Amino acid sequence: MAKIIIVDDSRILRKILNATLTEAGHEIVGEAGNGEEVLKLLEGCVPDLITLDITMPVMDGLTALKLIKEKYPSIKVVMVSAAGQKNKVMEALKAGASDFLQKPFEPEDVKRVVYKLV
Ligand SMILES: [Mg+2]
Repeated sequence: MAKIIIVDDSRILRKILNATLTEAGHEIVGEAGNGEEVLKLLEGCVPDLITLDITMPVMDGLTALKLIKEKYPSIKVVMVSAAGQKNKVMEALKAGASDFLQKPFEPEDVKRVVYKLV
């Protein structure tokens, strides 16, 4: 079981990820709608893993990833990407992301990726 924070500007996506990961036995310790929000959350709670959407307002996932990895290198980060974001995914993997999920994904994809990392 891992402590996980879910970051996505889509409330529906957050809900799906929360339900899937909770069902897999993980503890969702927080949700955020953009990079700034998750950085604020991390001041009070450091999870094992973060699912991090790439496209978000205020602060996008790539910017947030770099700040998270600089300050909390032990947190594993799984990027959540959309079709056509291969370059951004490659950049994220170079910047320390552990893996990625491309939307649309199945619950089994989410569980498999997280299972491998925690
Ligand atoms: Mg988004």
